[in-house]
Amino acid sequence: MRVYADNAATTKLSPAAKEAMLPYFDEIYGNPSTLYTLGQEAAEHLLACRTEIAQLIGAADPREIVFTSGGSEADNQAIISAARNGARKGKKHLISTKFEHHAVLHTLDKLRKEGFDVTLLDVHENGVVRVEDVAAAIRDDTALVSVMFANNEIGTIQPIEAIGALCRERGIPFHTDAVQAIGHVPVDVQAMHIDLLSCSAHKFNGPRGVGFLYARRGIPLTNIIEGGAQERGKRGGTENTPAIAGMAAALREAVDHMAENTEKVTRLRETLIAGLSTIEHARLNGDRDRRVPGTVNFCFEGIEGESLLLLLDRKGIAASSGSACTSGSLDPSHVLLAIGLPHEVAHGSLRLSVGEYNTDEEMAYIVDNVRQVVAYLRSISPVWDELETGARPHLI
Ligand SMILES: *Cc1c(COP(=O)(O)O)cnc(C)c1O
Repeated sequence: MRVYADNAATTKLSPAAKEAMLPYFDEIYGNPSTLYTLGQEAAEHLLACRTEIAQLIGAADPREIVFTSGGSEADNQAIISAARNGARKGKKHLISTKFEHHAVLHTLDKLRKEGFDVTLLDVHENGVVRVEDVAAAIRDDTALVSVMFANNEIGTIQPIEAIGALCRERGIPFHTDAVQAIGHVPVDVQAMHIDLLSCSAHKFNGPRGVGFLYARRGIPLTNIIEGGAQERGKRGGTENTPAIAGMAAALREAVDHMAENTEKVTRLRETLIAGLSTIEHARLNGDRDRRVPGTVNFCFEGIEGESLLLLLDRKGIAASSGSACTSGSLDPSHVLLAIGLPHEVAHGSLRLSVGEYNTDEEMAYIVDNVRQVVAYLRSISPVWDELETGARPHLI
């Protein structure tokens, strides 16, 4: 059996999205910036996609959507723009959290080296940022608050509307990396007081390599990619028309089917949580309920996440240990450290992220195999020996 349980890393293209992309490869392949019919047909569809996406996230105007190469580029552009806008008014303080995606954290590092003052908030042990911590960190010179909508490793959902309301009241631009949320939970940029929002198509069954930045009217953007006048001069480069068509179709489909998908995916996730919780010295990371439908993250004491992944792969199960971006490094996940887990516990983590294409049968297969592999790894683990003989205290 082969089971794909790494939907937080990327997803399979939906048939509807694939269908929507096809004409833009070899039929309507004109450059949307050209004046002849073939180009104008592409430009018309681009506008239709922009209009549809704006409507699906509650934006007031399609011109507030800038197409990008994905979530990382949107995060870079949002944060750099807010920093530059602030600096022009002498405001050089940026607030974010310790468990953001590296596209946010590394951009903030770069700005710190340029002289910006960056406050990274701690995250409560349930994986949820506290609104009062954001409020306490705000200063007169704060130029940006950036808090992710849903965390990519543990799946917890943040109090975005409350943080948005706070920022709006204090006149501070608010950015959210909504890559794990869009298409999975309701997102409304106006109702939630969001000024800047990053999105990536491949996390909701759209194609990889495309995303968008929502920037509320009145928030000037700084170019990351200089070039032609595409995207109203905010992002150079010929638009990836097939990918944008796929993204709009995938988002439409995800929003239209959100209720039924949520019900199914939540059921699958609950089967995983119930099954894996019966393994001794295991811990579910992040709030029990305040999470996106499909993502669960467990720590198993006495084992290494990497070994667990490799053995699960041999059983045909594709899963992840923390973030895809850090696998290959031996450091434990910055997200699990941010929620207060000790290094030795954080090392034994497993992220399973399921979607609407998964089945109940697959969940049973995952639970069975994780149980067996954890038992095997513990049987050969010197650390587990020490835990069992009492030479080392159990931390879970
Ligand atoms: C995947 C992801 C990104 C990066 O998106 P890409 O389109 O792969 O660049 C950013 N933030 C979060 C929370 C993600 O899960």
